[in-house]
Amino acid sequence: MKYEAVIGLEVHVQLKTCTKMFTRAPYRYGEEPNTLTDPVVLGMPGTLPVMNHEAIEKSICVGLMFGSHVPELTKWDRKHYFYPDMPKNYQISQYDEPICQGGEGEIELPGESRNVMGEHKNIRLTRAHLEEDVGKLTHEGNFSLVDYNRAGAPLLEIVTEPDIRSSEEAFAFLTSLRTHLIYAGLAECDMEKGGMRCDANVSVRLKGASEFGTKIVLKNLNTISGVRNGIEYEIKRQVKALEAGETLVKETRRWDAERGVAHSMR
Ligand code: ADP
Ligand code: MG
Repeated sequence: MKYEAVIGLEVHVQLKTCTKMFTRAPYRYGEEPNTLTDPVVLGMPGTLPVMNHEAIEKSICVGLMFGSHVPELTKWDRKHYFYPDMPKNYQISQYDEPICQGGEGEIELPGESRNVMGEHKNIRLTRAHLEEDVGKLTHEGNFSLVDYNRAGAPLLEIVTEPDIRSSEEAFAFLTSLRTHLIYAGLAECDMEKGGMRCDANVSVRLKGASEFGTKIVLKNLNTISGVRNGIEYEIKRQVKALEAGETLVKETRRWDAERGVAHSMR
């Protein structure tokens, strides 16, 4: 193959804590909708967020595990947006001074056989920042339902450098990340329950080229095999387009696991 893929992952992980990021309300998957809320979660006037100590500690543990710099000072930033999944109309997140900076995770690729160890490679981490999760919308015909149980749950977003070169490597990275977080008791990483969610940034370039190609963001990869299949599909699509002399445009595409195709979102 004369092309090479360049991939960077953005992985959202729900931390395993007793309560939400800024309030005493707990979060558990699968409860009756809107039963795990309180005035802070619902963004009522006069409520004040109070940081969850456990979420900060667990984020620091993630940083220590992957050799990140954990700075003396880290701060919150406020990201405004208007959407019914977040009643207070802004998300508390981190922008320029995240809790974990740099670091790397080691992956092992499959060997030739069960008894042969595969190639080892380090994937650099850009950062990991803490934020709060948002509620879940369900669209049914011409109305929509909202469940705020998940809103405010502590979410750690782990971003990699564009060091990943194949869907196999992306799969190996996610599997390794998941294993580390589960064994350290930091997160459950159940993708089917939304405990781990991944966006993949994918581009291709001619082998040996020094510049990166146009990046496409793949969303909705909500199983580990979805990540592998979605990236594989996207690489093939991009190579085919380039071979046909088309120019790729920066866009966000949504993976449809049932049909095995991705569609443009924006
Ligand atoms: P943006 O400003 O669009 O959010 P960033 O530079 O912050 O882009 O990168 C977001 C993610 O995309 C990171 O995981 C990064 O490694 C990855 N990335 C950046 N450029 C490319 C590229 N050309 N191809 C594939 N992945 C990329
Ligand atoms: Mg960015």
